[in-house]
Amino acid sequence: MNTKNLLEIMKAISEKIEEEKDTLTELDNAIGDGDHGINMARGAKAVMEKIPLLITKDSGAIFKGIGMAIVSSVGGASGALYGTAFMKAGDVLKGKMELSPEDFLAAFSASVTGIKTRGKSTIGEKTMLDALCPAERAMREAIQAKKSLKDALLAAADEAEKGAERTKDLIATKGRASYLGERSLGHRDPGAVSSSFMLRAMADTL
Ligand code: ADP
Ligand code: MG
Repeated sequence: MNTKNLLEIMKAISEKIEEEKDTLTELDNAIGDGDHGINMARGAKAVMEKIPLLITKDSGAIFKGIGMAIVSSVGGASGALYGTAFMKAGDVLKGKMELSPEDFLAAFSASVTGIKTRGKSTIGEKTMLDALCPAERAMREAIQAKKSLKDALLAAADEAEKGAERTKDLIATKGRASYLGERSLGHRDPGAVSSSFMLRAMADTL
Protein backbone atom coordinates (compact mmCIF):
# COMPACT_ATOMS: atom_id res chain seq x y z
CA MET A 1 0.00 0.00 0.00
CA ASN A 2 1.31 3.45 -0.88
CA THR A 3 0.37 6.86 0.50
CA LYS A 4 -2.09 7.47 -2.33
CA ASN A 5 -4.00 4.31 -1.39
CA LEU A 6 -3.86 5.39 2.24
CA LEU A 7 -5.42 8.77 1.50
CA GLU A 8 -8.12 7.01 -0.55
CA ILE A 9 -8.88 4.88 2.48
CA MET A 10 -9.12 7.96 4.71
CA LYS A 11 -11.53 9.53 2.23
CA ALA A 12 -13.65 6.36 2.10
CA ILE A 13 -13.83 6.19 5.90
CA SER A 14 -14.96 9.82 6.05
CA GLU A 15 -17.65 9.26 3.43
CA LYS A 16 -18.93 6.14 5.19
CA ILE A 17 -19.16 7.99 8.51
CA GLU A 18 -21.00 10.88 6.88
CA GLU A 19 -23.46 8.38 5.30
CA GLU A 20 -24.06 6.61 8.60
CA LYS A 21 -24.32 9.73 10.74
CA ASP A 22 -28.00 9.22 11.58
CA THR A 23 -27.52 5.56 12.51
CA LEU A 24 -24.76 6.52 14.94
CA THR A 25 -26.89 9.29 16.43
CA GLU A 26 -29.82 6.89 16.97
CA LEU A 27 -27.57 4.39 18.72
CA ASP A 28 -26.17 7.09 21.01
CA ASN A 29 -29.70 8.38 21.68
CA ALA A 30 -30.54 5.00 23.19
CA ILE A 31 -27.66 4.68 25.66
CA GLY A 32 -25.72 7.96 25.57
CA ASP A 33 -26.33 11.62 24.83
CA GLY A 34 -27.15 11.33 21.13
CA ASP A 35 -24.11 13.11 19.75
CA HIS A 36 -21.99 10.27 18.36
CA GLY A 37 -23.18 10.80 14.77
CA ILE A 38 -22.58 14.54 15.02
CA ASN A 39 -19.16 14.05 16.61
CA MET A 40 -18.08 11.52 14.00
CA ALA A 41 -19.41 13.59 11.08
CA ARG A 42 -17.56 16.64 12.37
CA GLY A 43 -14.38 14.55 12.47
CA ALA A 44 -15.02 13.23 8.97
CA LYS A 45 -15.38 16.78 7.65
CA ALA A 46 -12.13 17.84 9.32
CA VAL A 47 -10.36 14.81 7.80
CA MET A 48 -11.68 15.62 4.31
CA GLU A 49 -10.37 19.16 4.66
CA LYS A 50 -6.99 17.89 5.87
CA ILE A 51 -6.43 15.30 3.11
CA PRO A 52 -5.28 17.76 0.38
CA LEU A 53 -2.58 19.03 2.76
CA LEU A 54 -1.18 15.52 3.24
CA ILE A 55 -0.65 14.43 -0.38
CA THR A 56 3.16 14.64 -0.32
CA LYS A 57 3.59 13.31 3.23
CA ASP A 58 4.73 9.90 4.45
CA SER A 59 2.27 7.45 6.07
CA GLY A 60 3.31 8.43 9.58
CA ALA A 61 2.67 12.10 8.91
CA ILE A 62 -0.66 11.26 7.25
CA PHE A 63 -1.92 9.34 10.28
CA LYS A 64 -0.58 11.97 12.64
CA GLY A 65 -2.15 14.84 10.68
CA ILE A 66 -5.50 13.06 10.61
CA GLY A 67 -5.32 12.22 14.32
CA MET A 68 -4.66 15.86 15.12
CA ALA A 69 -7.50 17.01 12.88
CA ILE A 70 -9.84 14.65 14.78
CA VAL A 71 -8.68 15.64 18.26
CA SER A 72 -8.95 19.35 17.50
CA SER A 73 -12.39 19.17 15.86
CA VAL A 74 -14.31 16.48 17.75
CA GLY A 75 -15.55 16.82 21.28
CA GLY A 76 -16.60 13.88 23.39
CA ALA A 77 -14.90 10.66 24.30
CA SER A 78 -14.77 9.44 20.72
CA GLY A 79 -12.72 12.45 19.52
CA ALA A 80 -10.01 11.88 22.08
CA LEU A 81 -9.99 8.11 21.58
CA TYR A 82 -10.07 7.95 17.78
CA GLY A 83 -7.66 10.89 17.58
CA THR A 84 -5.24 9.04 19.84
CA ALA A 85 -5.63 5.89 17.74
CA PHE A 86 -4.63 7.65 14.51
CA MET A 87 -1.73 9.47 16.16
CA LYS A 88 -0.38 6.22 17.65
CA ALA A 89 -0.52 4.62 14.20
CA GLY A 90 1.43 7.64 12.94
CA ASP A 91 4.22 7.00 15.45
CA VAL A 92 4.66 3.44 14.19
CA LEU A 93 4.68 4.42 10.50
CA LYS A 94 7.05 7.39 10.72
CA GLY A 95 8.93 7.94 7.44
CA LYS A 96 7.25 5.10 5.50
CA MET A 97 5.97 5.76 1.97
CA GLU A 98 5.03 2.09 1.36
CA LEU A 99 3.21 -0.09 3.89
CA SER A 100 3.51 -3.87 4.08
CA PRO A 101 0.67 -5.89 5.63
CA GLU A 102 2.91 -6.25 8.72
CA ASP A 103 3.32 -2.46 8.94
CA PHE A 104 -0.44 -2.02 8.72
CA LEU A 105 -0.97 -4.59 11.47
CA ALA A 106 1.63 -2.94 13.72
CA ALA A 107 -0.09 0.42 13.23
CA PHE A 108 -3.54 -1.03 13.94
CA SER A 109 -2.29 -2.78 17.08
CA ALA A 110 -0.72 0.45 18.32
CA SER A 111 -4.05 2.22 17.75
CA VAL A 112 -5.95 -0.33 19.81
CA THR A 113 -3.37 -0.19 22.61
CA GLY A 114 -3.57 3.62 22.50
CA ILE A 115 -7.35 3.52 22.96
CA LYS A 116 -7.04 1.11 25.89
CA THR A 117 -4.47 3.32 27.60
CA ARG A 118 -6.26 6.59 26.94
CA GLY A 119 -9.68 5.18 27.86
CA LYS A 120 -8.42 3.06 30.78
CA SER A 121 -10.59 0.39 29.21
CA THR A 122 -10.47 -3.13 27.90
CA ILE A 123 -12.57 -5.66 25.99
CA GLY A 124 -15.96 -6.57 27.51
CA GLU A 125 -16.94 -3.08 28.72
CA LYS A 126 -19.32 -2.29 25.83
CA THR A 127 -17.12 0.17 23.96
CA MET A 128 -15.44 0.51 20.58
CA LEU A 129 -12.86 -1.97 21.89
CA ASP A 130 -15.42 -4.76 21.62
CA ALA A 131 -15.28 -4.29 17.85
CA LEU A 132 -11.62 -3.34 17.56
CA CYS A 133 -10.04 -6.11 19.66
CA PRO A 134 -11.64 -9.01 17.74
CA ALA A 135 -10.81 -7.15 14.51
CA GLU A 136 -7.18 -6.88 15.54
CA ARG A 137 -6.99 -10.58 16.34
CA ALA A 138 -8.50 -11.49 12.96
CA MET A 139 -6.10 -9.16 11.15
CA ARG A 140 -3.14 -10.64 13.02
CA GLU A 141 -4.15 -14.23 12.23
CA ALA A 142 -4.66 -13.44 8.55
CA ILE A 143 -1.36 -11.61 8.17
CA GLN A 144 0.56 -14.27 10.05
CA ALA A 145 -0.98 -16.79 7.64
CA LYS A 146 0.47 -14.64 4.79
CA LYS A 147 -2.94 -13.61 3.48
CA SER A 148 -3.22 -10.35 1.53
CA LEU A 149 -3.97 -7.07 3.30
CA LYS A 150 -7.35 -7.02 1.55
CA ASP A 151 -8.26 -10.45 2.99
CA ALA A 152 -6.94 -9.43 6.40
CA LEU A 153 -9.09 -6.30 6.39
CA LEU A 154 -12.15 -8.23 5.20
CA ALA A 155 -11.69 -10.66 8.10
CA ALA A 156 -11.17 -7.74 10.50
CA ALA A 157 -14.32 -5.96 9.27
CA ASP A 158 -16.37 -9.18 9.67
CA GLU A 159 -15.16 -9.63 13.24
CA ALA A 160 -15.73 -5.96 14.06
CA GLU A 161 -19.36 -6.26 12.89
CA LYS A 162 -19.88 -9.40 14.96
CA GLY A 163 -18.23 -7.75 17.95
CA ALA A 164 -20.43 -4.67 17.60
CA GLU A 165 -23.51 -6.91 17.46
CA ARG A 166 -22.41 -8.74 20.63
CA THR A 167 -22.25 -5.45 22.56
CA LYS A 168 -26.04 -5.84 22.88
CA ASP A 169 -25.35 -8.52 25.48
CA LEU A 170 -22.87 -6.41 27.47
CA ILE A 171 -23.45 -4.01 30.36
CA ALA A 172 -21.55 -0.76 29.86
CA THR A 173 -18.91 -0.02 32.47
CA LYS A 174 -17.10 2.81 30.65
CA GLY A 175 -18.27 6.10 29.15
CA ARG A 176 -21.72 7.67 29.40
CA ALA A 177 -23.58 4.41 28.79
CA SER A 178 -22.20 3.13 32.11
CA TYR A 179 -24.61 5.50 33.89
CA LEU A 180 -27.42 3.24 32.66
CA GLY A 181 -25.95 0.08 34.13
CA GLU A 182 -28.16 -2.90 33.22
CA ARG A 183 -30.43 -0.66 31.15
CA SER A 184 -27.64 -0.53 28.58
CA LEU A 185 -28.42 -4.19 27.76
CA GLY A 186 -30.13 -4.87 24.44
CA HIS A 187 -28.50 -1.93 22.64
CA ARG A 188 -25.41 -1.90 20.43
CA ASP A 189 -22.61 0.41 21.52
CA PRO A 190 -22.35 3.41 19.15
CA GLY A 191 -18.55 3.46 19.17
CA ALA A 192 -18.34 -0.27 18.42
CA VAL A 193 -20.63 0.31 15.44
CA SER A 194 -18.64 3.33 14.18
CA SER A 195 -15.45 1.24 14.43
CA SER A 196 -17.04 -1.51 12.36
CA PHE A 197 -18.11 1.05 9.74
CA MET A 198 -14.54 2.33 9.48
CA LEU A 199 -13.09 -1.14 9.06
CA ARG A 200 -15.69 -2.04 6.44
CA ALA A 201 -14.88 1.15 4.51
CA MET A 202 -11.15 0.26 4.61
CA ALA A 203 -11.74 -3.29 3.40
CA ASP A 204 -14.07 -2.17 0.61
CA THR A 205 -11.57 0.41 -0.67
CA LEU A 206 -8.64 -1.96 -1.11
P1 ADP B 1 -19.47 10.97 24.49
O1 ADP B 1 -19.58 9.64 25.17
O2 ADP B 1 -18.50 11.88 25.18
O3 ADP B 1 -20.81 11.58 24.22
P2 ADP B 1 -19.39 9.90 21.79
O4 ADP B 1 -20.86 9.76 21.93
O5 ADP B 1 -18.92 10.54 20.55
O6 ADP B 1 -18.78 10.68 23.06
O7 ADP B 1 -18.71 8.48 21.86
C1 ADP B 1 -19.22 7.44 22.67
C2 ADP B 1 -18.44 6.16 22.42
O8 ADP B 1 -17.11 6.28 22.93
C3 ADP B 1 -19.01 4.97 23.15
O9 ADP B 1 -20.04 4.36 22.40
C4 ADP B 1 -17.81 4.07 23.35
O10 ADP B 1 -17.66 3.16 22.28
C5 ADP B 1 -16.65 5.03 23.34
N1 ADP B 1 -16.06 5.17 24.68
C6 ADP B 1 -16.47 5.99 25.69
N2 ADP B 1 -15.65 5.87 26.75
C7 ADP B 1 -14.70 4.95 26.40
C8 ADP B 1 -13.54 4.37 27.05
N3 ADP B 1 -13.19 4.74 28.29
N4 ADP B 1 -12.81 3.47 26.37
C9 ADP B 1 -13.15 3.11 25.12
N5 ADP B 1 -14.20 3.61 24.45
C10 ADP B 1 -14.98 4.50 25.08
MG1 MG C 1 -22.28 10.71 23.00
